[in-house]
Amino acid sequence: MVLEFFQNACILIAFMSIAQHLLRNKRIFEDMSLKSKFLWGLYSGILGVILMINSVHITTDTFIDFRYIPILFSAIYSGFFSSIISSILIAIFRSLILGVSDISLIGSAIALAMGIGFGIISLLKISKKRKYIYSMIFFVIASVISSFTVPQNITFDFKTVSLYFSGYLIVSYISIKYADYIFETVRIYQKLRNEATKDYLTGLNNVRQFDNSFNNISQRAVRKEEDLSMLFIDIDFFKKINDTYGHNAGDTILKSLALILLDTCRTYDIVSRMGGEEFSVILLDCSDSEAVKIAERLREKIEENDFYISDNNFIKITISIGIASYPNTTTQIDNLLEMADTALYQAKNTGRNKVVLFNNDEHKI
Ligand code: GH3
Ligand code: MG
Ligand code: MG
Repeated sequence: MVLEFFQNACILIAFMSIAQHLLRNKRIFEDMSLKSKFLWGLYSGILGVILMINSVHITTDTFIDFRYIPILFSAIYSGFFSSIISSILIAIFRSLILGVSDISLIGSAIALAMGIGFGIISLLKISKKRKYIYSMIFFVIASVISSFTVPQNITFDFKTVSLYFSGYLIVSYISIKYADYIFETVRIYQKLRNEATKDYLTGLNNVRQFDNSFNNISQRAVRKEEDLSMLFIDIDFFKKINDTYGHNAGDTILKSLALILLDTCRTYDIVSRMGGEEFSVILLDCSDSEAVKIAERLREKIEENDFYISDNNFIKITISIGIASYPNTTTQIDNLLEMADTALYQAKNTGRNKVVLFNNDEHKI
């Protein structure tokens, strides 16, 4: 019996560890999609079925299993829909695979009742701890009521009943604690990964991520003989904006500008904040003439946009953009950023609010 308890604990821990690995890169701390809820319910249901097969023998002909713990999990962590999906899966398996009989139909009905009960409790606007407590109370009541529905020839002794309830309480509590620990490690992992690659203010790629992306993208462009263009963008007279309207207003403008950049570029272009009020865009598979069009569209959009610095106040800003393009303006792909910066310098020196394409001849010393 002790060995079987241990086996069940190992199955639970193994499933949770696999879930930890699968969830590592998923957005689990925002609103989950219906598909994710369905998959979560399915995963919990499969765990429930495996636990059902690996039941723990109390005496030679009485045994218990922990099939309702995954239903509880899906309810608490993913909500009503997942709870129903996992309970349906367990119910189907109980009746169809293990053979249709009065007992198995009762077993399926109880699984569905647990799914509905835990699911409804998960909808309540209460803390997770309370949801767990209410669910365990519901579980005890539902189990006691369902014990009256089993055929007369099956009797429950004190040892079985007490092991059943205490086993459920201990295993479910430890599992919930372990699941919380896993969610916390996933959350910290995602936060650290995000901080290492994203700019804290705008959410764009930071310089480190820009370098990584550029290395990969430039190598691929050379290998596949594709065009690659780089925009280097700088806000005109940004210091004056900070001095006039304050640093917070400056920050608000940087955030709005980041959104416009993302909105104007294609989803696969790499938009980064290079520091201060300087941004870059790597335009994949994009020639110099296309890059000029995109940059010009961007410049006009910024010039026309009202940048709100409070509910009623907006200001106008302009940007200057330097462009370098591989292979049309340079065959040295590694110098793309430097050349875009040189073009930007020229845009600043010749009046600002303009787009300049790097020209090899003009910049020869
Ligand atoms: P230019 O047209 O030549 O680019 O002039 P500029 O004033 O934009 O350029 P300069 O490099 O002199 O000033 C950049 C300013 O950007 C200075 C700094 O205070 C401001 N800045 C840098 N980082 C931040 C930030 O995170 N938030 C805010 N609000 N301002 C920042
Ligand atoms: Mg600057
Ligand atoms: Mg500037």
